[in-house]
Amino acid sequence: VSGARRALVVGGGIGGLAAALGLQRRGWDVRVLERRTAGAVAAQPGSGISVWPNGARALAALGVREQVLAGAALAGRGGVRTPSGRWVARTDIGGAVRDRFGLPLLITTRERLAAGLAGALGAGRVEYGVTVDAVDAEAPAALAGGLAREADLVVIADGARSRLRGAVLPAVPELRYAGYTSWRFIAPRPAGPAEPAETWGRGGQRFAILPLDEERVYCYATAACAAGGHAADERQELRRRFSAWHPPIPELLGALAPGTVIRTDITCLAGVPAAWHRHQAALLGDAAHAMTPDLGQGGCQALEDAATLAALLPAGLTRDGVRRALAEYSGHRADRAAAVARRSARAGRLYQSPAWLRALAARASGAVPARAVARALAPVVDWEPPPDTAPPPGA
Ligand SMILES: Cc1cc2nc3c(=O)[nH]c(=O)nc-3n(C[C@H](O)[C@H](O)[C@H](O)COP(=O)(O)OP(=O)(O)OC[C@H]3O[C@@H](n4cnc5c(N)ncnc54)[C@H](O)[C@@H]3O)c2cc1C
Repeated sequence: VSGARRALVVGGGIGGLAAALGLQRRGWDVRVLERRTAGAVAAQPGSGISVWPNGARALAALGVREQVLAGAALAGRGGVRTPSGRWVARTDIGGAVRDRFGLPLLITTRERLAAGLAGALGAGRVEYGVTVDAVDAEAPAALAGGLAREADLVVIADGARSRLRGAVLPAVPELRYAGYTSWRFIAPRPAGPAEPAETWGRGGQRFAILPLDEERVYCYATAACAAGGHAADERQELRRRFSAWHPPIPELLGALAPGTVIRTDITCLAGVPAAWHRHQAALLGDAAHAMTPDLGQGGCQALEDAATLAALLPAGLTRDGVRRALAEYSGHRADRAAAVARRSARAGRLYQSPAWLRALAARASGAVPARAVARALAPVVDWEPPPDTAPPPGA
């Protein structure tokens, strides 16, 4: 877009791509600077992601809900099991979410989500293999490989381990280990019924199976352990921990191909900052609000950030207009993301606690009223993007 105002987005994860797309649709000339090479992105092992109605509404506001979520699996009836396979809670969470919030709970792959966003953005908008070393919020500019790239707006979406937060925040909160690690993988769907389920064992061990389509399931597992651990072969570590659990977990683990398991220590920011902007730069996604994944909301919150930013920042804004709009963006997002992060951390502490496990194990297998689940989810899932803000005269 010649003559359009330029926005640089640092980081081409879900948050960065969604922000770039939203800004482009408001008339900005956008570039995404992504550290990974295109080859590394393509070679990344697959994993799944749940998209709740709030994330889907953000995608709708960005104009890509249908195309990005095409082919995603509908979460249906599922529940919680013990390692022996006994169901201790069952509920139709998918139906409850759809009935209460008007949109379903979807499970898709990260690759599909990222590729959908990148595809909508168009060719040549993402520069791969570019590491940003510093951001000057006032200029504003991003420094990469000794070169200052100037813009009218810089969005910092460089993830939970952000090295650029300090460009915006006077005090950078610590990224804390939450006390448990995680494994994720996509595997061939085992024979027989595959109801979505999380199985809970000792030592913070959880194993979840979520069908993706007729051929594949997405699985994640957790365990409480020291930070920074890695096994030479994470498949062996998973087999050691979970092979005695109920079918089809041993079969799934037995058939795993090499190089398919992603291991990630679970971290979260010690506190979500109250303001995410400085001059003409702003934080977005995990860089602003890294949270534990216990509510499946980190990516959905990044999508909310992106839709909000786009709604508040038409490309016609002057320098002062951008600064005011970024302050408004912070105002819209900081409290909301902080509240979701707190709930997520609380859920994580509960799920990892032996007392909770005992309470679950004591339950007779029982239906959990879907309406009650939906009610509990409402503060997190019930979200609407702000309406597009027309540039005020003279802004
Ligand atoms: C086990 C697990 C399960 C999860 N499940 C869900 C779920 O079901 N639903 C959900 O909504 N969320 C989920 N999440 C959270 C979700 O994955 C994250 O919140 C989301 O990916 C954050 O996106 P982002 O774009 O902010 O950051 P990232 O995806 O981390 O992207 C940051 C990007 O910036 C790049 N980068 C970093 N530094 C630089 C630099 N200096 N210069 C240039 N580029 C740089 C990185 O290479 C990366 O591509 C889960 C997380 C985990 C760990």
